[in-house]
Amino acid sequence: MLEQIADILLNHNKFIITTHVNPEGDAIGSCMALKAMLEQMGKTAWIINPDSTPRMLEFLDPEGSIMVYEKAACDPLFAEAEVHCTLDVSEPKRMGALAEPVLNSKLIKVLIDHHPGGEHYTPYAYVDPSAAATGVLLYDLLEALPIELSPDVARFLYVAIMTDTGGFRFPNTNSKAHHVVARLLEVGVDPGALYTEVYEKDTLPRFRLFQKVLLTTQFAADDQLAWMICPRGFFDQTGTTNADLEDVVNAPRSLEDVEVSLLFSEPEPRHVRVSMRSKNRVAVNELAARFGGGGHDRAAGAVLEMSLEEAQAQVITAAKEMLAGLG
Ligand code: AMP
Ligand code: MN
Repeated sequence: MLEQIADILLNHNKFIITTHVNPEGDAIGSCMALKAMLEQMGKTAWIINPDSTPRMLEFLDPEGSIMVYEKAACDPLFAEAEVHCTLDVSEPKRMGALAEPVLNSKLIKVLIDHHPGGEHYTPYAYVDPSAAATGVLLYDLLEALPIELSPDVARFLYVAIMTDTGGFRFPNTNSKAHHVVARLLEVGVDPGALYTEVYEKDTLPRFRLFQKVLLTTQFAADDQLAWMICPRGFFDQTGTTNADLEDVVNAPRSLEDVEVSLLFSEPEPRHVRVSMRSKNRVAVNELAARFGGGGHDRAAGAVLEMSLEEAQAQVITAAKEMLAGLG
């Protein structure tokens, strides 16, 4: 499949690249890496995403080349492009407002992803759930193309892999991720500098939001389950948005007894986003699937169209059931 995808890239000239709603490091790093790889081959590529790039990742795109989908501005690009590449997306609905324009377009469609399961809407799908990050799969693609690894691409891929592995700490970290990262360092990636860019340039508003959300933490199931809430008022009170919640759900993982951590946020009324994380034993993508969501076994999510209270009640009951089932 990699060879077929490499041929598609080599034999066309104009590309659109898209990743998922609420993009994080793997999503933005992978988009920027693929765009840079295509440009190395003399091609034109536009990144069109459903949501804006979070502030902590804007340094990857200093020229602001990433576009947020707007029909009027983007339809002409869909008419001009030949190939659409979707990165780090397991199901079309995770492309938000782009799902319909992408699926209805006549473009050749390429999908590169590392989520298990999912719905592959194109025959040109390179999907490997054993990969720590989509960034690892883009490195495979690079090796199938007649280009050298550039320092820019290396930086983008490093951020993709560093963030999706939680700084090489989460259980998806594997030897292949480290092999790829070793290659990235050989062309000049500075791990300390990139760590600082991503994790040590936070804003006070986000820190205040973090404080407020942490104070809501509750525990159940012998402290194996932790959950936090972020009602809409928290965003207004701290001058933040939903994107500023990145990583907050991971905080309770530091507690020895916690197996599952949940964060309920309400960016819009009756639109509750649930972020789910687990440490070793609970497949949170199965928990998410019960509510129409999905993801990885240790990091998943869902959106529930109901009140914050109702969403908490339903998901916490289901999470307790899963923990009780572990015996
Ligand atoms: P998040 O908690 O938003 O960082 O999401 C963690 C992971 O869960 C993402 O990387 C996705 O793989 C998955 N995910 C989150 N929300 C959804 C959703 N509504 N539907 C399917 N998968 C999701
Ligand atoms: Mn990913």
